[in-house]
Amino acid sequence: MKRVVIVGGGFAGLAAAGILSRRGKNLETALVDRRQCFNFLPLLPDVLGRGIPAGLMAYPFKDICSGLKARFIQDIAQAVSPDGRSLHLGSGLNIDCDYLLLACGTETDFHGNVSLSESTYKLDNVSDALKLRQALEIGCYDNYLVAGGGYTGIEIASNLSLFLREKRRRSRIIIVEKSPSILGPLPEWMKVYVKDDLAACGIEVKTGLSVTETRAGRSVLSDGSVFGKSIVVWAAGVKTPDFIDRIPARRTPQGRLKVDECLRISRTCFAAGDNACLSAGQGCLRMSVQFAITQGESCARNILNDMDSLPPREYRTFDPGYIIPMANDRACGIIFGLPVRGILPVFMHYLLCVWRNRGMKNRIRLALLLLKKAVR
Ligand SMILES: Cc1cc2nc3c(=O)[nH]c(=O)nc-3n(C[C@H](O)[C@H](O)[C@H](O)COP(=O)(O)OP(=O)(O)OC[C@H]3O[C@@H](n4cnc5c(N)ncnc54)[C@H](O)[C@@H]3O)c2cc1C
Repeated sequence: MKRVVIVGGGFAGLAAAGILSRRGKNLETALVDRRQCFNFLPLLPDVLGRGIPAGLMAYPFKDICSGLKARFIQDIAQAVSPDGRSLHLGSGLNIDCDYLLLACGTETDFHGNVSLSESTYKLDNVSDALKLRQALEIGCYDNYLVAGGGYTGIEIASNLSLFLREKRRRSRIIIVEKSPSILGPLPEWMKVYVKDDLAACGIEVKTGLSVTETRAGRSVLSDGSVFGKSIVVWAAGVKTPDFIDRIPARRTPQGRLKVDECLRISRTCFAAGDNACLSAGQGCLRMSVQFAITQGESCARNILNDMDSLPPREYRTFDPGYIIPMANDRACGIIFGLPVRGILPVFMHYLLCVWRNRGMKNRIRLALLLLKKAVR
């Protein structure tokens, strides 16, 4: 009997568990996650503006794992033995394994600023989204600052704008981006499209600046400007969890583990999803659900190949594209190499969300809710 341990029950970890579950005999799979439920991250910003219930984005691992014939262990992975055959958990438990898959994703990076991590909001999981929604409901601010002008920051800002419009509150929403432009390396037409949409929603964009401090509702930017009665949502970068940083392996500056073309760190230790980066060829791929799923599946197939003494297969990417959805029912992106914009990519984004969500009830309720909102 061989034992596979998967750390992280996100898109990559669950995709791997799905493939492994088909083997049945001679294989025991354990999934370790610090949370009780799978969190569907792409819909988190919609908790703020569109008012999608957070419950539709969480699904108990216990139920998922029973369907996948895997054992679920709710615990925090803390260390891996040098040979990658033993995992040390926060509860003090050690689990031995024949194969280890690291699929821990990433989390918000405050770049070591403890004060900002304590005084701002983030959107890493369902409880963060609920906490922020609650703060928006009870607080009344003059300034809503979003630190970071990547796709997450833009989605958050557009949802804040929808929230304020529905509550008939008039306040400033400002995206503060450190680089000279929003959306970093994305094509120029996309930046222009998004900027126009943000402006139409009344959202200001300040580039070349960062939020340096926020205390008791007073936020300060790097040029010294001060915003009173403010709330800050931090979306200015991600990093791998501390556990990944402690693994003796090569890493990128964001902490992503460098893997070979078969997604391996060693013969029996694999990494997939946001916490992995191909060390050659395609290099670090965009952090996305699509790549997390296909990498998780690829790792699982290579584990089964190794068990059968077959050679591993190289991970080959298929990139169908990406979409940047905004809460004003407009989006832009690249689909199969073609630029798309307007309402169609919004529809595609939510269709994918319904399809990729966990639990039939969640999917049906989400689809009905989105349909109702679309009709309205
Ligand atoms: C707000 C937001 C919106 C997004 N929108 C989109 C989108 O529209 N389209 C898209 O393609 N992508 C989107 N993404 C990115 C996408 O969600 C990620 O690329 C994807 O979730 C990566 O999957 P993963 O399995 O690598 O990691 P995750 O889904 O992050 O899962 C990692 C899991 O590991 C667990 N974990 C972490 N550390 C430990 C530990 N030490 N011990 C035990 N468990 C641990 C976590 O609890 C989590 O369950 C979005 C992300 C965010 C945050």
